Parts: sequence; structure tokens; C-alpha cells
Amino acid sequence: MRNLRKSRGKSDNTPYYDDQEVFIMNCVTLDEKIPAKILETEIRNRRAVIKSIECPVCHTPMVWSRTWETFSCKNTEHQGPKRYEVIKDSGLY
Ligand SMILES: [Zn+2]
Repeated sequence: MRNLRKSRGKSDNTPYYDDQEVFIMNCVTLDEKIPAKILETEIRNRRAVIKSIECPVCHTPMVWSRTWETFSCKNTEHQGPKRYEVIKDSGLY
């Protein structure tokens, strides 16, 4: 049932924010992880989630993509899609 819900896009897989340092990694180029600059958080179900992270290339806010499970930069001046995986010291969000 869980997979069914997920495939319908109803589950919220936005990464939590729990005051520990967050890193992002470009999941296309798999460069080194870099510290994420978190711009906005939001309380959902009594927990803080990361709402937007600054794009390390062009500094515009990136928002969470439930489909890709990454933060994505929508700036069209980038060459190709910029998608960043969220990494915490404890592992993947
Ligand atoms: Zn960007």
C-alpha cells in the first residue's frame, strides 16, 4: 500500500530539518558534497522540513521535487538540469 501511495505522489518525502548541518551533492555530476544554504523551512506534521535551498551556482532558491527526490534549480541559464541530492552526516536525509 505504501508503494501505491508513493506512486500517486501523495506522500510527502521532503527532507526534515533538525538543526544539523546539511550538505547537497549534484546528482548528475556527483561532485563533492557542499554545505547547503537553507533559505526556508516549514513545519509539517510538527516537524521542520526544508522548503528551499540556495542554488550553489546561481543563488536562486531551489525547491523540493517529489518526483526526483532532489532540490532542483529552475534557472534556464544553466546548462542542463541542476538537481541536488540532500546529504546529512547520518546518511541520506
Ligand atoms: Zn541555479
